Amino acid sequence: MRDWVKGTVVGRHVWTDGLFSIQFDAPVADFRAGQYVKIALDIDGERVSRAYSLVSPPQDRPLEVLFNEVPGGPFTPYLSGLKLGDPVWVSAQPGGIFTLEFVLPADSLWLLATGTGVGVYLSMLRTPDPWERFRRVVLVHGVRNVADLVYGETIAAIAARYGERFVMVPAVTREPYAPGLNGRITDLLNSGALEERAGTGIAAASSHVMLCGNSAMIKDAKVILEGRGLVRHRRHVPGQYSAEHYH
Ligand SMILES: Cc1cc2nc3c(=O)[nH]c(=O)nc-3n(C[C@H](O)[C@H](O)[C@H](O)COP(=O)(O)OP(=O)(O)OC[C@H]3O[C@@H](n4cnc5c(N)ncnc54)[C@H](O)[C@@H]3O)c2cc1C
Repeated sequence: MRDWVKGTVVGRHVWTDGLFSIQFDAPVADFRAGQYVKIALDIDGERVSRAYSLVSPPQDRPLEVLFNEVPGGPFTPYLSGLKLGDPVWVSAQPGGIFTLEFVLPADSLWLLATGTGVGVYLSMLRTPDPWERFRRVVLVHGVRNVADLVYGETIAAIAARYGERFVMVPAVTREPYAPGLNGRITDLLNSGALEERAGTGIAAASSHVMLCGNSAMIKDAKVILEGRGLVRHRRHVPGQYSAEHYH
């Protein structure tokens, strides 16, 4: 049986109609940036749980997650309805291997996210790890609408701290957005627009690429990356790309 610890909601942010962050205090074990916790709620007498990547860096409390409310979904409408002071159950032991732990140093680290997948990278980017192992870090956030480009202040603080070593590329599909790019991440990879914008290329000899978010993006991006000679990273057999599927 999973080991649950009791947490308390201590913060809540509504980004858009269906996009939320919650912060909670819970005595979970230490974690690495990139890992997730399971959050559970007792709904109609049944304990229902889902996985959420931690947005907060390992050294910070409270813990924080970012999520989409899936209308009619069996869990997220309850999660988004939580109020300050409400109890939540949290897995005592964070899990997952989507971390930089066994990734080899290289010239550039590419962090590609769709939607809520950006959160996991905001944890990583607020640790020394990526900055000690890579000369440049490119964060790409693919969203439908400009309003989905969340955590602007957090990203601006990272940009201010690391200057030219950090490049943020927003990619919006459903409305024009001049400060970023328009289109799907995979199309922008294929056309070369993403690398042109970032001012650096993706190559097996010099890059590590992380993919997080929806399965369609990850599936298509893998084909593109493998076509360029990048190999999937495994814990004991280092490669050049890693992936975490949310849905
Ligand atoms: C390792 C891991 C980490 C995850 N981390 C996050 C996270 O940080 N934030 C987050 O929002 N979700 C995350 N997820 C997905 C999450 O666990 C739930 O599946 C999601 O919140 C939907 O829950 P639900 O019960 O309301 O609907 P479900 O019945 O689980 O799903 C209903 C539908 O919603 C779609 N869906 C699932 N996740 C999303 C999403 N993020 N955005 C849009 N549509 C979605 C599914 O494709 C499905 O069709 C993660 C999943 C895994 C496996």
